[in-house]
Amino acid sequence: MSIIIKSDEEIAAMRQAGRITAMVLERLRLQVRPGMKTKELDAIAARELEKLGAKPSFKGYQGFPANLCVSVNDEIVHGIPGERILAEGDIVSLDFGAIFMGFHGDAAVTVAVGETSPQARQLIEATEGALKAGIAAAYPGARLGDISAAIQHYVEARGYSVVREYTGHGIGREMHEEPQIPNFGLVGTGPVLRKGMTLALEPMVNAGDWRTRVSDDHWTVLTADGSLSAHFEHTIAITDSEPEVLTIV
Ligand code: MG
Repeated sequence: MSIIIKSDEEIAAMRQAGRITAMVLERLRLQVRPGMKTKELDAIAARELEKLGAKPSFKGYQGFPANLCVSVNDEIVHGIPGERILAEGDIVSLDFGAIFMGFHGDAAVTVAVGETSPQARQLIEATEGALKAGIAAAYPGARLGDISAAIQHYVEARGYSVVREYTGHGIGREMHEEPQIPNFGLVGTGPVLRKGMTLALEPMVNAGDWRTRVSDDHWTVLTADGSLSAHFEHTIAITDSEPEVLTIV
């Protein structure tokens, strides 16, 4: 397997898939409120996808049963939407992907449910900042490790830890393509970034230790120490100059 370079036409299709992904995610973000069941978010995602003529990336992927992942508080990623009721003060990570014109978009946000603690807000801000730091390192001629290192340094400078067992990834006609993109690494290592690479950067940041465990449902990944976790993701394209974020409205 190697890193697939996309043509301008393929990037144009991915821009549309990314825009749809971002539109649905934004709709979901605005709907989050105390008292709602997480499965209501899945229903909204299904409805919006249908309206937009797109398909979910996650549903059926290795048997995943829903249109999006909903991960609450100490859940990091891969939470299955269901009967859980969101409470004031929770933080909820929404990870969503759409297929359009044969290409995937993949993006995630963490949002507060109503008012949350300053500690939770700071974790969310740091995770979003880490994603921006990773994107800011994604220039042609740089190395993949520059992105990983930028994310890790941003997170650890704020006293948090990056999850190590789950990574970002290349993306295109497949949701998961080469390369894997760890959220930790060394500057100047890894493949050289080239125009036409399309990457899903996704820092997963724990307030406590980086270690994880998987719940009895075999999907939901949680922090091993029970600390809060946040997750932000964008699909981006490497260009001639500054990186292009594809998962924006
Ligand atoms: Mg992803």
